[in-house]
Amino acid sequence: MALQSVKGFKDILPPESERTAAFEALARGVLESFGFRELRLPVVEAQELFVKATGETTDIVEKEMFVLTDAGGRNLALRPEGTPGAVRAFLQHNLNLQGGRTKLYYIGSMFRAERPQAGRFREFEQIGAEAFGNGHPSADVETILALARILDGAGLKGRYTVHLNNLGCERPECRPAYRAKLLEFLRSVADTLCENCKRRLERNPLRALDCKGDGPKLKANPATPQLAPCAECHAHFETVKTLLPAGGLAFELDPNLVRGLDYYTRTVFELRSADVGSQDALAGGGRYDGLIKSMGGPDVPATGWALGVERVLMALKAAGSIAAPPHPEVYVAVQAESPELEKAAFTAMQSLRDFCRVEGALFGHSLKSQMREADRLGATFAVIFGPSEFSEGKCTVKDLRAKDQQSQTAIAELAKEIRSRLNA
Ligand SMILES: [Zn+2]
Ligand SMILES: [Zn+2]
Repeated sequence: MALQSVKGFKDILPPESERTAAFEALARGVLESFGFRELRLPVVEAQELFVKATGETTDIVEKEMFVLTDAGGRNLALRPEGTPGAVRAFLQHNLNLQGGRTKLYYIGSMFRAERPQAGRFREFEQIGAEAFGNGHPSADVETILALARILDGAGLKGRYTVHLNNLGCERPECRPAYRAKLLEFLRSVADTLCENCKRRLERNPLRALDCKGDGPKLKANPATPQLAPCAECHAHFETVKTLLPAGGLAFELDPNLVRGLDYYTRTVFELRSADVGSQDALAGGGRYDGLIKSMGGPDVPATGWALGVERVLMALKAAGSIAAPPHPEVYVAVQAESPELEKAAFTAMQSLRDFCRVEGALFGHSLKSQMREADRLGATFAVIFGPSEFSEGKCTVKDLRAKDQQSQTAIAELAKEIRSRLNA
């Protein structure tokens, strides 16, 4: 059998690759307009990094991590998410010593080793943003606004909802008190919980709240305890709730939103779209003030998010707002096999490429099959080099949208002619 891609890994062909690239370009532009700068991270990290940062009791680390061993017996992992690597890079290169805040974004593949299922792949793409060094709620709001602006710019405005929750902090009276109350309550209803939730109940009771099976019924149960945040967490969250609408973004409070990761504190959020199923968020994130310190760094607050590129492209498809892939604007053909005509055609193609997309060079085929190719590619204009016009220093320009409309142009004037027609 011919060679195949590995199960769970896929090729991204045009036009999907072009849609992906267009979305990435949009995201870059928006993030840079907010002052984020690109961080390019390695795909492979020490496995320990994710165990430490992402959390031992998370699904990612428990069962989804793509682990490998190198020749020296070191345990490595293909990155399942970007934040731990970003924090490692931040610490390794002492970015906190460069003064002020550090705002970084990344674009790239993430990996998970769970069994591939319909629509889920072992390699998938995320765009992420991390803002280090700003503990003020304005940093939470700014990162969320950047995320929303990317989705709006792509054409999803009004087609997603923003879900927001406050997870509190590690002060004893804040999340630890809530965690204890929740644990006590969950023990009392343990026989109704799924096997996963029962197993991790003692280590991470909050996860039951976003379990796909248990979360909805716990949410519906009025006896499920709610967080009573400490004064600082309360004030922080109130400011987030005030500033988001000032940035033009509406949100819904969702007390069961805990996200699947251990490191979040205070603000957590998810952006969801009915177009991709309500269980799967387009993007999500939150504040993680304790993570950098817990990884051996200084006490630096941080907030960030990650967006699933494939999910956003799915939502865009459902919304019908996927931009058409780029067509060539000019197709250059020759009417007869002749080195002179072919040379002139190549010279013309090179100069036209200074300002537009050009296809052609199917020389050695009949003019008819070259024009069929121009049609197939969706070219706007055809430029034809034929022997009789060429002897007069001219070529033919044909508007392929308006059939039969063609005119002759001096070859020396071709670029000017095409430019003015494209601008018309
Ligand atoms: Zn607190
Ligand atoms: Zn469960």
